[in-house]
Amino acid sequence: MENFRKEPRIAVFPGSFDPITVGHEAIIRRALTLFDKVIVAIGHNTAKKSLFPLERRIEWIKTALQDKSDVVEVQSFTGLTIDFCKKMNARFIVRGLRTSTDFEFEYSTGQVNRQIGGIETVLLLTDPQYTHISSGIVRDIFLYGGALETLIPKGIKLTTDEK
Ligand code: ADP
Repeated sequence: MENFRKEPRIAVFPGSFDPITVGHEAIIRRALTLFDKVIVAIGHNTAKKSLFPLERRIEWIKTALQDKSDVVEVQSFTGLTIDFCKKMNARFIVRGLRTSTDFEFEYSTGQVNRQIGGIETVLLLTDPQYTHISSGIVRDIFLYGGALETLIPKGIKLTTDEK
């Protein structure tokens, strides 16, 4: 019993994070109460074009979670999320649930990821105060020059790097 060592519980939190919002930040912080380490993974293999450059998106997540830098890692990946999980030794995927539309998507994706990859999906219900917040809304407000302070983590200044 003395030599018994538990394997660290590693979870991958995949998404586009274009950009990170206070909703994402809350999910990451709550996931840290369940897992030893959370890898925030920016997937960029789809045809979906992002507004913000990958380097900025990574930097903003790191800034938002800088007080947790010992247990939060930020990576980008291409290909299947389950393959990335295996590479990182992660047995769990974390996702946030806002609406029933989120649920429909997560249900089928989560089932397939367990069936073909043996990876468990853990769905965290969004804090009611963040239900309406999405990266898409933040992008729209950014493009029209609106106030973003309450929607994105503190210490972040959005820019597309365009001159
Ligand atoms: P994707 O394009 O894969 O949905 P996102 O970056 O939009 O990537 O979201 C990543 C994850 O964060 C998803 O599980 C999404 O449901 C969750 N999420 C996004 N916004 C919120 C929020 N306001 N509250 C809780 N979860 C959220």
